[in-house]
Order: sequence, then structure tokens, then C-alpha cells
Amino acid sequence: MKYISIIGSTGSIGTQSLDIVRTNEDLKVVALAAGSNITLLEKQAREFKPDIIGIWDEDKAKELRIALSEFDIRIVSGMDGLIEVATYEKAEIVITAIVGMIGIKPTVEAIKAGKDIALANKETLVTAGHIIMPLAKEKGVNILPVDSEHSAIFQCIHGEENNKISRLLITASGGPFRGKTRKELENVTVSDALKHPNWSMGHKITIDSATMVNKGLEVIEARWLFDVEPSHIEVVVQPQSIIHSMVEFNDGAVKAQLGTPDMKLPIQYALFYPERRNLAGERLDFTKMNGIIIEKPDKEVFKGLDFAYTSLEKGGSMPTVFNAANEKAVALFLNEKIKFLEIYDIIEKCMSVHKIIQNPTLEDILNTQNEVNEYINKII
Ligand code: NAD
Ligand code: MG
Repeated sequence: MKYISIIGSTGSIGTQSLDIVRTNEDLKVVALAAGSNITLLEKQAREFKPDIIGIWDEDKAKELRIALSEFDIRIVSGMDGLIEVATYEKAEIVITAIVGMIGIKPTVEAIKAGKDIALANKETLVTAGHIIMPLAKEKGVNILPVDSEHSAIFQCIHGEENNKISRLLITASGGPFRGKTRKELENVTVSDALKHPNWSMGHKITIDSATMVNKGLEVIEARWLFDVEPSHIEVVVQPQSIIHSMVEFNDGAVKAQLGTPDMKLPIQYALFYPERRNLAGERLDFTKMNGIIIEKPDKEVFKGLDFAYTSLEKGGSMPTVFNAANEKAVALFLNEKIKFLEIYDIIEKCMSVHKIIQNPTLEDILNTQNEVNEYINKII
């Protein structure tokens, strides 16, 4: 039996992780946490009977305690609660399915407590990769990628331990606005931006896919996960989302991982690595495909990629600024306070005024996020 804890259990990755638990009898959920959806959390509690549940809001925690009073489940709240769930004694592995930089502290604490991490929460690695990766090594814990591109790379390098990677080729779908000009993006609405062609995901990452900031974040995520220099990481657009990413080795061989777009595969692979388990679902039919399309990304319109490379080049706290500015700008866009293209303007402004802190501590990272938020409140 493998005991798992999930932070962010009510979201897209969280609920698909629970689907994997349903189909594998040797997985047992012992701890769950989520933001505010207590209706779903209560349902999950009744089905999976974890020992402990974290909910962000203390008032909601009180409601949940009443709703689940017939069970012996400890219900906790706030950041302390999230950390309790992430470090829960019985859990061997924590799925970080929470969205945003709020995941940093619980992830760090989980690693300190010796838990393996099935990492979906990319914002944590983007901002604190230089802290997380050495800490994981020191504590002897595995960071197992859940993001489909990184899982693909992870699958490609399995068994290649002594061989040198010469290039990572990260694939992007191009999102709902692939091929559009800047002019055409001026007045796009939130619902236009939420229409992702291939993947059904949480709102924040869906907007990130439309701006291609998501791909930028993934370049930084890959830099930390696989210790590959940014100049050796390339992004290509693969609009069918069937090549999930590729690795080129020093002899010129390229390995790719392909499959239908289904996050359950990377989630399950992370939970059972290196074992492959049966997974129901559609299979690729190459005879029905009209070729495999690969394109160059349009970096002029979709500035998310260049922001990522620039922030890696500047280093220190700059990736935090890129990520924090994006988190805030996307929230403003989702609340219809700014236009789509203003997401880029805000990130650009925040990055241009920031005074870089080299080798930032966790405290520096969280302070930088606060400063970025305050700065954006001032300028909009
Ligand atoms: P989502 O919005 O669907 O779910 C987010 C989860 O985080 C929810 O359970 C929510 O309750 C929880 N949460 C938010 N704020 C919280 C708080 N303050 N305290 C406790 N819980 C909180 O998001 P998602 O699409 O599942 O994405 C989750 C992460 O996985 C993101 O970092 C995303 O970039 C990454 N990811 C997602 C996908 C995907 O297919 N959805 C693919 C690759 C990577
Ligand atoms: Mg991805």
C-alpha cells in the first residue's frame, strides 16, 4: 500500500489524481487539502476517508467539521493546515496539485519531512527551484514531474543515466490563439481565452497557455528538474498535443513520448515510477493522423517565452517576479479588470523595475511576491 497526500484535491489535477487512486487498489489517500470547495471536499472525504483534511478558510473548516462530524477526521485550516497535510506522518508521497506560489511552503516542508513529491505545482519550482532541488537531494527524496512535458522528458531519460542530454525539446499546443496577430488579441474575452483546444485544466493554467507564459514557466521548470542550461532548452509548437516532449542526446538520437492528451498518464507514472500500470483510455491511431505538425512558436506575439528566458538569464529573484506578476495579472484578467494583452505589459513593467536579489531565500521570494503585488496595485 502506498499512502498519499494531495494538496489541491478539488482541482483539475487533484480530481484526476483521485481517479488514479480509484483504479489502483494499492493507493490509499491519507490526507487532502483544498482552497474553498467544501462541497466537493466533503464528498471526497466520505469516499476516501482520509485521516486529515486541510481547508484554507477557517470558517469553511468549521462548516466541514460539522458536516463530517460522524467521522474521525482531523480538519485543519490556513497555511499551518496545508503544511500539516503536506507533512502528514503516514504519507509517503505528496501530490502538489495546488495552483500558484502558495505551494512553496508546504512543498518545502514536505521535502524536509522526507516525502517524495509528485509535482504539478510548477510555480514552486519556477520561483524556488534553486532551493527545492538541492534540498530534495539532501533529504534523499524524489521530485517526480506531473506536468505532461516534464513527465515526457522524465520517461525519455529513464535508463539513460550515463548519457548526455544535448537538448530538451518542449512541445506547446499553441493554445486557443495560435496563429493570431497582436491586433486580433486586443479585445479577446475571458471566455475566448478559456477555450483550450486540447486540454481541460484549471483557469489559471488555461490563461497561461493562451499567453504562452505556461510554456515559459515550463522552460524554467525543466531547467531545474533536469539541470539543463536554458540555451539547451527549445520550445516547439505541436498543435495536436500528442508529442508530449522530446530529448536529444549527444549522439543526435531523439527520444519522444507520445500519447493522447490525458493528464492521468503523467499522474500515474509519477505515483508508480518506474513501473507502468494499465491505464484505460483512448489510444493513438497513427493511421488516422494527417501527419504530425511541428511549428516554430511566434515569440513576437506570445511574449511569455521570452520573459522566461530573460528571467533565467537575469537569475536570482527575477523568475519570481515573472511568475508573481503573471499570477496577479492573470487573476486581474479573469476578473475582467484588465485586457488580455495587458498581462504582458504588467509582467514587462514588473521585470523592468525589479532590483534583483541574488540567490534569494524563501523569505526573499515571498517578500518579492508581496512587492510585485503592491506594485501592480499601484500601477493599474
Ligand atoms: P485548479 O485551479 O483546477 O485547482 C487548484 C487546486 O488548488 C484546487 O483544489 C484549489 O482548491 C487548490 N487551492 C487553491 N488555493 C488554495 C489555497 N489557498 N489553499 C489550499 N488549496 C488551494 O488548478 P489545476 O489546473 O489543477 O492546476 C494545479 C497545478 O498543476 C498548477 O500549478 C498547474 O500549473 C499545474 N498543472 C496543471 C495541469 C492540468 O492539466 N490541469 C497540467 C500541468 C500542470
Ligand atoms: Mg504542461
